[in-house]
This record gives sequence, C-alpha cells and structure tokens, in this order.
Amino acid sequence: MRADVPVAPADVAIVGLGPAGRALAHRCVERGLRVAAIDPHPQRPWRATYAAWADELPAWLPPTVIASSVAPMAWTNAAHRLDRQYCVLDNAALRNATVLDGAQVIADRATELTPGLVTLGAGGTVAARIVVDARGTGAAAGAATQTAFGMVVDTATADPVLGDADALFMDWRADNGSAPDAPRSFLYAVPLGDDRVLLEETCLVGRPALELGVLRDRLRTRLSARGLTPGGDETVERVRFAVESPAGLPGVPAFGARGGLMHPCTGYSVASSLAAADLAAATIAHGDDLTAALWPLRARAVAAMRATGLRTLLTAPPEQIVPFFAAFFALPDRLQRAYLSGRLDAPGTAAAMASMLVRCPAPIRSTMLRSAFGRQNARIRSS
Ligand SMILES: Cc1cc2nc3c(=O)[nH]c(=O)nc-3n(C[C@H](O)[C@H](O)[C@H](O)COP(=O)(O)OP(=O)(O)OC[C@H]3O[C@@H](n4cnc5c(N)ncnc54)[C@H](O)[C@@H]3O)c2cc1C
Repeated sequence: MRADVPVAPADVAIVGLGPAGRALAHRCVERGLRVAAIDPHPQRPWRATYAAWADELPAWLPPTVIASSVAPMAWTNAAHRLDRQYCVLDNAALRNATVLDGAQVIADRATELTPGLVTLGAGGTVAARIVVDARGTGAAAGAATQTAFGMVVDTATADPVLGDADALFMDWRADNGSAPDAPRSFLYAVPLGDDRVLLEETCLVGRPALELGVLRDRLRTRLSARGLTPGGDETVERVRFAVESPAGLPGVPAFGARGGLMHPCTGYSVASSLAAADLAAATIAHGDDLTAALWPLRARAVAAMRATGLRTLLTAPPEQIVPFFAAFFALPDRLQRAYLSGRLDAPGTAAAMASMLVRCPAPIRSTMLRSAFGRQNARIRSS
C-alpha cells in the first residue's frame, strides 16, 4: 500500500526493505505494531541469489522459502565434504513469507534519518517512536568489498564443472588462469532448484576487490578447463557489496547488513538478519534499546574476532589463501559452524580461531597474529 505523506506517527519507521528491513517490518506488523516502511522500490523483486545454511533460518519461515538444499563440497588442495545443508532461497517465497499487510509502505528515498524522524526525498517526514536504519551496505568506497561474476546454466551443462559435488561452497582449485602471485578467487556453484545452476567466480574480499571483468575472464577460463564453453546468452549475476557497515547514526539503531549483521569474512547476512528479526521486533515492542538487545557482550566479542579474520584475509599474500582454507575445512564441523554462523557464540568462534592458529603453517600463523595484534592497516590486498 502507498501512503500519502506526512503519515501518522508510527511505532517504528524502517528505512530500507531489503531482506533484513522487510523481515523486521513483517515481524513488527505481526506483533501489532504500527509500522512505516520506506524504500524507493518497495515492490521490486530481489534479483540477487540469496543462500544460507539451512540451520540458520528461523522457525517462523515456511519451508517454501527454500528453493534448493544440498550438502556442498569445498575444494582447496583436496576435496572437503561439508556435512551441513546449504540452501538457496526462493526470493518470491521469502517476500510472501514477509508480507507487509497493515504496514504503511512508502515508496521514496529517505534523505535524513534522525531519532524519531525520517525525511523523505519527495518532501515531508515520517515520525515514529523509533527509526531503524536497514539501508544495507551498498558499495561504499574504501570499504572491504566482495565481488563476483556469475552465470546461470542448466544442470546438465554444469555437470562437468561440479564433478561429483551437488554444490561447491568454495572451489579454490587453480584452473581459472590467474597467475600464482595474483589475488585469489574461487568458484561458487549452487543449484537454483529449477534445473539451473549458478556458477560464480568470487573474490571473497578485497580492498579493493577484484574487478568484475577479471572475474568474468577467470570464470570463462575455469569453465572451459572443465569442458564447458558458455554460449554467451546466459543470465549473469554481478555482485559487489561492502562487507563492512558504515558508522551508525546517533540515536538511530541499524539492522541487517547496515547494522553489522553481515559476517565480514564471508559476506553472508541474510540468514542472520532473518534470525534476528523476531528479537528486534520484540525489543521494539517493549520499548527497549534495540542496539543493546542485538549486541550483547558475546556478540561484540564475536564481531571483534571476525574483524581480526577480515584483516587476515585482506593482508594474507595470495599463496597463503588456499592453505588457510584447507586448514579451515579440516576443522571439526562444530568449529566451522561456530565460525561461520555463531554470531553469539564467542567461545565457539574463539575455539575455531585458536584451532586455526595451531593448524596453519607458520607463515599464515604470523599473518593471523599480525592481524590480531599488529598494525591494522598493514599490507592490504585482495584475497
Ligand atoms: C548478487 C548478490 C548476491 C548475494 N548473495 C548473498 C547470499 O547468498 N547470502 C547472503 O547472506 N548474502 C548475500 N549477499 C549480500 C547481500 O548484500 C546482503 O546479504 C543482503 O542483501 C543484505 O540485506 P539487507 O536487507 O541488510 O540490505 P540490502 O539488501 O542492501 O537492502 C537495503 C535496502 O535499502 C534500500 N535503501 C537504500 N538507501 C535507501 C534510502 N536512502 N532510503 C530508503 N531506502 C533505501 C535499498 O533500496 C534496499 O532495498 C549478496 C549480495 C549480492 C549483491
């Protein structure tokens, strides 16, 4: 529904209707709150291929939001079978599961967010007891960034690329034509659930990240090395987003990728935002401090450890990347899970990082220790 502005005071104004803002708006409506939801294109379908570990998704979501679910493999200098279901989300079903009936949806860009007031591009303001910033991270200049270039092919065409894997979470094999001393990228390959597969060459993180043209060429080289020559008319996916959130606004709590719910070492945020939406809605309903509720001490401890991990990825020379991930995928499942998904699991994250320190070869261990204790802006490069 499209409201005329100015609107009646709301309990909460949510700025940004990506997966995070929309899920939060939906859960607030479900609790009977008066919600104003603001986005320039609130009805525009999400085009990104969103995926998550199945066990990260909250119970309130129906199973229909899962388009495909498989146990993927990873490749470093050896194959690793990951004993965990990984799913691609059906964006239309996710939107249906987060309907905004009853919310005041405003198709406009917010130009200013202050505590209790949102100023709109078209003029007018939206007043609310609490304003939540869910504008995502976008492609902020200077921020650590993930880039990827992908193409969609049918399942039979993707077969030789996948080999005996149902999906490739990270395939670091060296058949993408990059020079040994060049920043690394990996192949990400997931079934979309409709007899199609996304094949994506990914720069996990860089400052700056690899350019999309470089990733496109590497993807073509890699696919052709595995017997797949793209026809040129494939649907493509272009990925570029900051993995770090910008500084917050005073008195305006942030949610989703904007609010630090993105894992800076992987770029995943959708599942953690969906999982946090209920707590956030309950906190708003009770009139409590949203930032405090989302960021207890253990979450802040995990964020600090993940920031160390990001510095490791940004500063490790290319030759350290594959052995680093070989050590990661050799960790016990529970530690991999803790590091990838445990936003509140400080002991698990610490145990995973300690175990990595023990397992990694000495040069990588030095990089990790420098990331933890050394100058933070040492040699920055893509990984
Ligand atoms: C192609 C692609 C694939 C990805 N794949 C995954 C994945 O598989 N798993 C995963 O977890 N993450 C993935 N990501 C990362 C992704 O950015 C985030 O995970 C996710 O979109 C963040 O959700 P969000 O709702 O926090 O922010 P966003 O999705 O960025 O949404 C922000 C919203 O705010 C709106 N907005 C911005 N400025 C204003 C303003 N001034 N006023 C009002 N509204 C505004 C925007 O229109 C947008 O709708 C992917 C990203 C891309 C680009």
